[in-house]
Amino acid sequence: METRISRDLFERALEVIPGGVNSPVRAFRAVGMTPPFIKRAKGACVYDVDGNKYIDYICSWGPMILGHAREEIIEEITIAAQEGTSFGAPTEREVVLAEMICEAVPSVEKVRMVSSGTEAVMSAIRLARGFTGRDKILKFEGCYHGHSDGLLVKAGSGALTFGEPDSSGVPKDYAKNTLTATYNKIDQVEGIFKACGEEIAAVIIEPVVGNMGVVPPQEGFLKGLRELTAQYGALLIFDEVITGFRLGYSGAQGYFNITPDLSVFGKIIGGGMPVGAYGGSKRIMDLISPVGPVYQAGTLSGNPVAMAAGIATLRVLKNNPKIYDSLNAKAKQLENAFIEAAGEYDIPLVVNCVGSLLNPFFTNKKVVDFESASSSDAVVFNQYFKYMLEDGIYLAPSRYEAMFVSEAHSEEDIGETIKAIKSNLKRIKAKMKGS
Ligand SMILES: *Cc1c(COP(=O)(O)O)cnc(C)c1O
Repeated sequence: METRISRDLFERALEVIPGGVNSPVRAFRAVGMTPPFIKRAKGACVYDVDGNKYIDYICSWGPMILGHAREEIIEEITIAAQEGTSFGAPTEREVVLAEMICEAVPSVEKVRMVSSGTEAVMSAIRLARGFTGRDKILKFEGCYHGHSDGLLVKAGSGALTFGEPDSSGVPKDYAKNTLTATYNKIDQVEGIFKACGEEIAAVIIEPVVGNMGVVPPQEGFLKGLRELTAQYGALLIFDEVITGFRLGYSGAQGYFNITPDLSVFGKIIGGGMPVGAYGGSKRIMDLISPVGPVYQAGTLSGNPVAMAAGIATLRVLKNNPKIYDSLNAKAKQLENAFIEAAGEYDIPLVVNCVGSLLNPFFTNKKVVDFESASSSDAVVFNQYFKYMLEDGIYLAPSRYEAMFVSEAHSEEDIGETIKAIKSNLKRIKAKMKGS
C-alpha cells in the first residue's frame, strides 16, 4: 500500500497543526500509525491522496448514514450555497429542519440549532441548570458528550466523591459539579440521588453508548433513570448525537420508548455539515434567550448550507423507512461474521450490536460498562486494525469506537468486509500461536 503522499502531508501538518490533526483520534496514535489523508469519498468508499480505496466504516464518525456525496444532498447544498452561504438572519430552511426534528421526535416540541454536538450538549446543560436552579449534573463513565469543561470529567476515587478534571485546563472547582456513575448500575445512581438528589439539575446519558465502543443499556436501566430523575425533579437528557436518526427515525427514545426531558442531536442531522441541536418541551425550551433568561447564541447557528444538508438527509430517511431494516440487517451480517470467525479460530471476542452500530471487543467479558469495555485487548485490536486497513477496510483507529454501517454499503461491500474479518482473525490466531 503506497502511503508516501499522506506521510508527506502529515509531516507538513505536524509543523502547523498540533499533532497534525484537528481532532485527536484522527492522528492514529492509539494504533501506532500515521493517518491516510482523504482526498474524496463516494457512497461507501473513501479514497486517499495516494490513490488507495477503502470501504469506510467511520462514516465521518456517524453523520454519513446515507454514504458519501449522495446526489440529493449535494444538490441541496449546491442550491443553498448559490443563494448565499450565511446571513446571520432567520431563513426558511432552519424552520423546515426544526419542524422535521419536532415531528420525528415526540419529546421535542421546540429545538435550537447550533454548530456542533459539543455546543448543543453544553447549551442543554446550561438550560437544565437554568430550569431547575441546581448546579450539579450526573454523567456516566465512558460516555462522551463533547469537550466542554463540565463534561471532561472523570470519577473521583470512591463512589460518591465529586468528579475530577479529565483534561488539563479544566478547573477543579468546575469539575466538582459533575458527578460520575457507572453505566448500567442503577443502584449506584439511586445511591447518589439519595445522597444529593435535590442538588442535581440533570442526568445526561448516551442511551446507547457509542463512545466506549458500543454498549447497550441493560433492561430497565433507562427506565430507572427516568423514574429517579422524575422523583427528584432533575431533568433527563438523552445525548442522541450518535443514536438520533440512526436507531430509527425517532432515535433511541423511540427505540426504547423512553421520554427524556431534553434531547441533543448532531452528526446525522447535519448530513455531513457542522450542525448540532437541542430540544425538549416548550415549557423548558422557552427559558432560552430571547424569550427567557438562559443565554445562548451563535453567528453561524442554523447556517443555510448546513440546514440544506440536514433537510436532504432527513428527507431521504423519512421517505424510506425501510432503510433502517436494511442498515440493521447489514450490521447483523457483520456481527455474525465476527462471532463465527472468533469461534472458529478460538479468539476471545464479544460483539455488541445495536441497530446499525456495532463493534468487536477482544475480551471474554460481557461488555456492559467502561471497565469491561477497557478489557478489550489493545495489542490484538491494533493488529486487527492494521490488517483490516491493509485489506482496504477503513475502521476507527481505536478499540473504543463503533463501526457505522451506511445505506451505501452494498452487499458486495459487506461481503468483502466479512471476508476480511475472517481472514484477519485467522491471521491473528496464527500470530498468537507464533509468539
Ligand atoms: C460526537 C459526539 C458529541 C460531540 O459532537 P461534536 O460535533 O463532535 O462536538 C457529543 N455527544 C456524543 C454522544 C457524540 O458521539
